[in-house]
Amino acid sequence: MSDPTRRCVVRLGVACVLLCGAIGSAAGGTLRGIRIGYWDDRVRVVCDLSAKTDYRHRVLRDPHRIALDLPQTASQGVTPPAVEDWLLERIRLNHLGEGTTQVVLDLSAAPSYRIFDLPAEQGRPARLVCDLLRPAQAPPALPEPWVVALDPGHGGGDPGAVSRRPRLYEKEIVLTVARHITAELNAAPGVRAFLTREADVRVDLGQRVRRAEEVSADVFVSIHVNGCGHRSAQGAEVFFLSLGGATDASARELEALENQPAAHSDPLIGEIADLPFAVDLIQTDTIQRSSLLAEVMLDALVEDRLAASRGVRQANFVVLRSVRVPSVLVELGFISNPEDARHLASSEHLAALGQSLARGLLDFKRDYARQSAVGDGASR
Ligand SMILES: [Zn+2]
Repeated sequence: MSDPTRRCVVRLGVACVLLCGAIGSAAGGTLRGIRIGYWDDRVRVVCDLSAKTDYRHRVLRDPHRIALDLPQTASQGVTPPAVEDWLLERIRLNHLGEGTTQVVLDLSAAPSYRIFDLPAEQGRPARLVCDLLRPAQAPPALPEPWVVALDPGHGGGDPGAVSRRPRLYEKEIVLTVARHITAELNAAPGVRAFLTREADVRVDLGQRVRRAEEVSADVFVSIHVNGCGHRSAQGAEVFFLSLGGATDASARELEALENQPAAHSDPLIGEIADLPFAVDLIQTDTIQRSSLLAEVMLDALVEDRLAASRGVRQANFVVLRSVRVPSVLVELGFISNPEDARHLASSEHLAALGQSLARGLLDFKRDYARQSAVGDGASR
C-alpha cells in the first residue's frame, strides 16, 4: 500500500457525496488524467480535471457499464490506465460531439456506486470521483473443479479377496491403484481427486459416503478385486447401480457376495439402514450417467489391453446405492485366476491400471460429466 496513487486516493475517502446527475456550475476544462485505487470493498476511479466541470452519467447494461459525460472538456493525450480488477474490467475514453469527453467504466456486474466531485484544494486539482462498491459476497469464483471420490475397498482388518501364491491382498492392490488414479487426475487441469481411505485402515460405508459428500464429489468410483472359487474366471468388470437388482446370474452371485458380510467380510455391507440416504433420492439421470461412466472406464481398460472385459453390468451394491452422484464399482480382475493374479502382483501393471482408469474418468468428464438433468449443459 505504499503506492502514492493509492495513498492519495485514500485521503479522498471522506469527501461529501453528491449523487448522480449533478450538474456543476462551471463550464468546461481539461481532463488531465485518470487514476484507480483498489480496496476490498470498492474500486475508486478519479478523474483529475483542470477545473470543476459539469458532468452527467448513465448506467447501461449488456454489458454493464457506467458512462460519465464531461461536456466541453478536452482530453487530448490522456490514456486510461490499465485495470486489474474483477469488478471494473476496463476504462475507455470516447470523444463525443461538441467537445464532450466520455469516460466509460466497463463492469462485470450491475454496479452499486456513488459519484461525486471535489474542488481544487491544497495543491490538488478538481476531481470527479466514482466509487464502485463491491457486492458483499465473494467475487465470482474460478470455475469449480470436477471432483472424483475414489473408494479403495476394504482395509485394516478386512483384507478383501486374498491370494496365497502370489501373496496378494485386495485391500493393498485397490489402494495402490486408487493412489495412481488420484495422482493422474490431480495432474489434470480442473480436476480434483480424493481417496475415501488413504491408508490400510478400516473405513465403514457411512464414512466413505460422508467423505465423498464432504468434498462435493461429482462422481464416486469404488475399486475392488474379484475372487472366487473357480480359477478360470478372469477379467475386469464394472458395475453400476441397478435398483431392480442384478442383470444376470453371475452378477447376482457377486452382488450376494458383496452384500453379505459373512461371505465377503466387507465393511461396506449391511449398513444401508444407518444411512440418511434413501434409494428414491437417486434419480434416473444419475443411473444413466453411472452406466455411461461404467462403459467409459471399462473401455479404457480394454483399449489399453490391461484386462479382458467381462462387460458392464448392473448390480445392487450397497456402496453404489448410497451415493447420489454417478457411481461405479470397478472389479480390476480375479485374484483367484493365475494370469490375473500375476498381473495384479506387478507394480507396473497397477500403475498402468491407474493411468488407464484415470483416462477413462477424464473421457467421461469431457463427454458426459456436465450433461445433467438440471440443464447446466456446457456452461461450467
Ligand atoms: Zn471387494
